[in-house]
Amino acid sequence: MTDLTRYERQGRLQGRCLCGAVTIDVDGGHVAAVGACHCYICQQWSGALYATFDAKADAVTVTGEVGRYRSSEHAERTFCPTCGAHLWYRNVTREAADYELMAGLFREAAGFPLVSEIYVDQAPDYVSLAGDHSRRTAADYESRTTFVEGDDP
Ligand SMILES: [Zn+2]
Ligand SMILES: [Zn+2]
Repeated sequence: MTDLTRYERQGRLQGRCLCGAVTIDVDGGHVAAVGACHCYICQQWSGALYATFDAKADAVTVTGEVGRYRSSEHAERTFCPTCGAHLWYRNVTREAADYELMAGLFREAAGFPLVSEIYVDQAPDYVSLAGDHSRRTAADYESRTTFVEGDDP
């Protein structure tokens, strides 16, 4: 697993969807680093690249109507019903599960480092992310992560 503890911090971040109908306020614990997933579900959902950072459930306040899609037994993926912007992925079987917030909604997250890529063997040819971060294949990821704790699909 990628050790994210060094990127944990308290603080405030504000994000919004493209049209502004949904705002996401993070005030509290979050990880100031981004992870990318190239699994086919994330590709289809995001349209190309799934890149998120984690925020504690009790730190997240959402305003505006949110569309929800249950992408598996344990996960939901949300979006703005007006503009279609993707908002977050979350394990809904655990009340305290972190939000995995789409980084592009938050201007400040543009300065976060990329620390992890998973499902690299499913990445499309047109996506190649530079840097010296953790890269794991589907088999490697699934062999060490249970779906209960993991972040896919
Ligand atoms: Zn919107
Ligand atoms: Zn994925």
